[in-house]
Amino acid sequence: MIQPLEFFPYVAQELYAEKTSVIKCAEKYGTPLFIYSETAIKKAYQALDKSLEGIPHQICYAMKANSNLSILKLIKSMGGGVDTVSGGELFRAKKAGIKPDRIVFSGVGKSVKEIEQALKYSQKASVALINVESLEELDAIAIVAKRLKKTASIGFRFNPDVDALTHKHISTGKNENKFGMTKPEILQALEKYKKHPKIKISGISIHIGSQLTNVYPLRNAFQECAELFELLSDSLPQSLKFIDLGGGVGVQYQNETTIPIDSYAGIIKEIFKRPKFQQYKPKLLLEPGRLIIANSGILVSKILYRKYREDKNFVIVDAGMTELIRPALYEAHHGVLSVKKHLGPTQPIDLVGPICETGDFLARGANLPTGIAQGEYVAVLSAGAYASAMSSQYNSRPRAAEILVSGTKIKVIRKRETERSLILNEEIK
Ligand SMILES: *Cc1c(COP(=O)(O)O)cnc(C)c1O
Repeated sequence: MIQPLEFFPYVAQELYAEKTSVIKCAEKYGTPLFIYSETAIKKAYQALDKSLEGIPHQICYAMKANSNLSILKLIKSMGGGVDTVSGGELFRAKKAGIKPDRIVFSGVGKSVKEIEQALKYSQKASVALINVESLEELDAIAIVAKRLKKTASIGFRFNPDVDALTHKHISTGKNENKFGMTKPEILQALEKYKKHPKIKISGISIHIGSQLTNVYPLRNAFQECAELFELLSDSLPQSLKFIDLGGGVGVQYQNETTIPIDSYAGIIKEIFKRPKFQQYKPKLLLEPGRLIIANSGILVSKILYRKYREDKNFVIVDAGMTELIRPALYEAHHGVLSVKKHLGPTQPIDLVGPICETGDFLARGANLPTGIAQGEYVAVLSAGAYASAMSSQYNSRPRAAEILVSGTKIKVIRKRETERSLILNEEIK
């Protein structure tokens, strides 16, 4: 499990990304700036991959966490596939050259157009698995498959009604959440579609939430999923090909303890020891997002102004909720550091952005050096996942640039947007 600072060390009193000076990057490419460490991404991916040695598996990186094309290509180079949740993501996956047999299509409301995209992903092949979220959606998939003369390989997304013990906005595995199908719903869909010529029932999937830090809800969910896998396999002419255990493993943002990879792999290995699994030999699919990318990135921002008051200190920087909305959206905590190390005293500081919203803060009460000055840079840690991917142009702010660093090598993987980017689709003739 990658730590927030593992690939962003201080070298001679200033922050580096691998072997590259963060200050030099900020000066060359401007701020706000996302910096990703290629080595961190590789290490996170390979650690998970290796922990599952001996179990036939495919990692399908949940690209909604960060769908930059260069990052997708990096995942692909290690043998990874992707979990997609929209037509736009299928489009990106295709651009990155990811093969259809490594693609899962998830999402709670797939449109007809998106279903077509998944079935016609490449000239010859459809995506490996479409995870179905309702009987009505399956009806729609069957109609499209018939019209296109394609066979849709589908899985049922199972909602096991377990409490994932995470923030309510990122919990997905309770009956009260909109996601997945209950067991009776799945059995009903099975009856309706088990002999359908264009629907191939090939998997069962779960994803109970994100930023999970406790292994027990996952273990319960995996067990329930395994039972349902066996039930479905027993009632079909051939067993299901895939068991898709989703993503959701939490990462360390501050001092919280999270799920060690070995424990995670351990609870997976447990279900693969079940006698019927040895007989049916399913392929395991995993959809990690945050685990791969969160601690592989930082957001660098420049200090514009300070407001030190008797009972409150604000530092106003040039990044905000447009670049990182997680604090505003889920009360998420991100570590922050001054890029230049200060040796003097520190004090609690609210790090806020320039956007006209009270909710526009990056960190509250962050322990920053009292002497941190205008024009200096700060780094918001663990900003690889759900940051750039959730960014917006609110307040008419062009989106930030992104760079990928490997040792001393730097690659610009997304150019900074310009003011023209803001109005491109509004110039009505
Ligand atoms: C978001 C999502 C994931 C990834 O979640 P992380 O917490 O980033 O690992 C995986 N599978 C599905 C279906 C998702 O919606």
